[in-house]
Amino acid sequence: MRFKINEIGVDGVPVNVAVSAEWLAAACPDIDARPAPAGLSLRGSITPTGDDFLLRADLRGDLEATCARCLEPARVHIDVPLVITYVFSGSEDVPEEDEDEVGLVTFTGGELDLSDQVRDELVLAIPFNPLCHEGCKGLCPLCGSNRNVVACAHTTTAPVIATGSLAALSKIKL
Ligand SMILES: [Zn+2]
Ligand SMILES: [Zn+2]
Repeated sequence: MRFKINEIGVDGVPVNVAVSAEWLAAACPDIDARPAPAGLSLRGSITPTGDDFLLRADLRGDLEATCARCLEPARVHIDVPLVITYVFSGSEDVPEEDEDEVGLVTFTGGELDLSDQVRDELVLAIPFNPLCHEGCKGLCPLCGSNRNVVACAHTTTAPVIATGSLAALSKIKL
């Protein structure tokens, strides 16, 4: 996800980068997800604007996470537009406080590295508890079978009867 400044002409360069499983594992080690077979990619362009560079791209595709209920793969659709101005940190006319501005990223050296911004967007886009589908029945707490697939003997048992304060709470209508 690196682009050499001297290869970005006056008309800019196209961006077409596939997010690989290796990159994802290295960039987001805390995230349990991998690109789905259809893939995930960043497509758009980088164009020069004065001394700065403007990235306009879409991060789009599917990730495969793990369903929080049944532990089967959960498809997470990603469709995030990225509009980021890369400002050379050596240039004198950039006030320090501008660095905190949304969509403004400083860079040093002869290349732009989009990795950090792509990583941040992915971390935000992946839900805390991904589900394979909204109505996932999850795993049976008694035998561990996947209730979406098999109707184990426990699926017909009534839910544990709440007692005491819990029973009172369950009577409250929201
Ligand atoms: Zn599930
Ligand atoms: Zn069961």
